[in-house]
Amino acid sequence: AVRVRFAPSPTGPLHAGGVRTALYNYLFARQTGGQMLLRIEDTDQTRYVPGAEAYILEALQWLGIEIDEGPETGGPHAPYRQSERKEMYRAYAERLVQEGKAYYAFDTAEELDAMRKRLEAAKVAAVQYNAITRMEMTNSITLPAEETQARLASGEPYVIRMKIMPKEDIRFNDLIRGWVVVHSSQIDDKVLLKSDGMPTYHLANIVDDHLMGITHVIRGEEWLPSAPLHVLLYRYFGWESTMPQFAHLPLLLKPDGNGKLSKRDADLGGFPIFPLEWTDPVTGDKARGFREEGYMPEATANFLALLGWNAGTEQEVFSMDEMIKAFSFDRVHKAGARFDINKANWFNQQYLKHRSEESIREEVLPLLASNGLQVTSGQAGQIVHLLKDRVHFVKEIVEESRFLFAAPEEYDQDVVVKKWNEESVSAITGFKEALEKYEGDFVADQIKTILSGTMEALGIKMGKVMQALRLAVTGAGAGPDLMIIMEILGKAEVVNRLQIALD
Ligand code: GLU
Repeated sequence: AVRVRFAPSPTGPLHAGGVRTALYNYLFARQTGGQMLLRIEDTDQTRYVPGAEAYILEALQWLGIEIDEGPETGGPHAPYRQSERKEMYRAYAERLVQEGKAYYAFDTAEELDAMRKRLEAAKVAAVQYNAITRMEMTNSITLPAEETQARLASGEPYVIRMKIMPKEDIRFNDLIRGWVVVHSSQIDDKVLLKSDGMPTYHLANIVDDHLMGITHVIRGEEWLPSAPLHVLLYRYFGWESTMPQFAHLPLLLKPDGNGKLSKRDADLGGFPIFPLEWTDPVTGDKARGFREEGYMPEATANFLALLGWNAGTEQEVFSMDEMIKAFSFDRVHKAGARFDINKANWFNQQYLKHRSEESIREEVLPLLASNGLQVTSGQAGQIVHLLKDRVHFVKEIVEESRFLFAAPEEYDQDVVVKKWNEESVSAITGFKEALEKYEGDFVADQIKTILSGTMEALGIKMGKVMQALRLAVTGAGAGPDLMIIMEILGKAEVVNRLQIALD
């Protein structure tokens, strides 16, 4: 059965790229009836950010990504936090030492630094730590066993490094990229076990993927350069027959395609799913995130899934279940995916259109109140009905509804020039008088009947005055259904605004 994992390091909030990785893992797991694991890769204590793990769980939950095994959920391979597995990794590194596939290295930071400088001065293209530099530093490819033992015995700090054999090709078949071939001269003798006894990412990742029975490693393209090293580790450990398949997902690029989207590109959508420090939306947290900006989780998941993948049809709006059915690695692109925040906004609008007016009303009521716009629940419902199809976000309803709360202070001058004339003035005057006499229910249908009756009596075509009337009521030449706007405003306010416009 398929077993995949999302293996974030708890170093800060999740951004679009990380979440898309989690999402593709999830889609593939659900499609194949397999399992989705969450593993927290927290072996680098210097980069650990408190709260980041809880954040990751909350972000996945918000997006509708369910975890089958993980630190909270538990599972047969617990613990799922690498810091709690720490003791286990050393034995694997030592096993490779015994088999001659790794070695103790005692270089101090100063020695490494001096080596780097020497190599740079000698204009060596890529400064590496490998068989050649090892010769250079210790005068032999591996330290003589007695010397190693003596230095270990004297308590000298050390790391365990992987021994890369020169002159071999390392190849693997990536589900997205096809065959990837890398020559071992391109690879460093990477550290597997650090001097503090902690494993590096490479060691812990491979050991855990193996022990946890991972069948597919689905992750961002930034890990592609590490993949050959991982393939070698599987070989060194003798785990080749159960080595997972790799799928390296395309980078997320800035909208113009120029470089990676980074968290510094906040205005372009480089913001996280939500800020790590989260406070109440109504009281106005300034930190930005998809959630704070008002993106719905379903829209966000849909939008992220389409960054680098499509179903091969015209369809763009997918529920999670539809994505689970449609997803395939064949249709994941190799080229980077441009991140277009306008497209994200479009998706949110699509999802907003399909949300119930009641649920939007519940969300918009406190927003209106916190903006000093007092309405009843019934009025909020009318406002939602009026504006919901015209906005991308619930919060936009607040801005778009301001004209309902105060008579216009200015009028669109283009419309004034084109539509404000003797005929429209007499039509609006007639309409105002008819309203003043009217005693019945002030609802859109009735208002329309009064308007058309007045126009008929005056012999003026409705079409010729509608824009001027809208101008008088709202200050603008275009907008949502005018009859409903007048219903929401109420008779007295409409008459008041018509009077102001006529004065
Ligand atoms: N801990 C790595 C990260 O932060 C995991 C990479 C992988 O999936 O192998 O993304």
